[in-house]
Amino acid sequence: MKFAIISDIHSNAEALTAVLADIDRRGLERIVCLGDVVGYGASPRECLDLVMQRTVVSLCGNHDHAVFYEPANFNAAAEKACYWTRQVLEEEPDVSARNRRWRFLGQLPVRYEIEDMLFVHGSPRKPINEYLFPDDVYTNPHKLLANFERMDKMTCFVGHTHVPGVFVDDPYFEPPYEMDHGVYTIGEEKTIINVGSVGQPRDRDPRAAYVVVDDDRVEFIRLEYDIEAAANKIRSSECLDDFLGARLFEGK
Ligand code: ZN
Repeated sequence: MKFAIISDIHSNAEALTAVLADIDRRGLERIVCLGDVVGYGASPRECLDLVMQRTVVSLCGNHDHAVFYEPANFNAAAEKACYWTRQVLEEEPDVSARNRRWRFLGQLPVRYEIEDMLFVHGSPRKPINEYLFPDDVYTNPHKLLANFERMDKMTCFVGHTHVPGVFVDDPYFEPPYEMDHGVYTIGEEKTIINVGSVGQPRDRDPRAAYVVVDDDRVEFIRLEYDIEAAANKIRSSECLDDFLGARLFEGK
């Protein structure tokens, strides 16, 4: 079974469109989304519609949750973006489109499973909100080990930190640029695999990130997209902090 996994789109329609075109070029029909379709960026309606049309499942991310319920522990820019997103969705003149998007946001599942794979937004034990950072290998190995212990599947795919790579339970973190051609082969040990972010990468590489899974082969893909267009939309919105556009160019 060959499929694509996308995550953390964050209302960046330019990045999402580029990724979907690349997935189409590869002839992949199954797409799993790990959440955070909205938040930060300027195109929440477009991104929600594309994710609804194109994915087999989209999980609940902390920003999706915040827009539907309420933001918790968000910084000022993220909180403002959250309320702005809510307003844009509310102001949709087409009632059925408006209701469809709200219904989608209100029914997002927290976890999803296929065979020996688990899919969540954050972490195996706290699926919506826990961050598993590469540095945790050194600074908080117990957090990683506790998550590995909680896994009843061999592989768990996550997003949330916007930093792609693979955790094994030594614990150890391997970024894609250290892998042969950006490909990781799942072995006998448990792995937690972060697929990176489509719409707001934070590993100093501004290109959109996603993965293609083909049996035990996980390919980390990076794609150029029109960052200028995505950032301009953020800049021209009064409620979105300009910093949210500027960070896209730096991948952080
Ligand atoms: Zn996110």
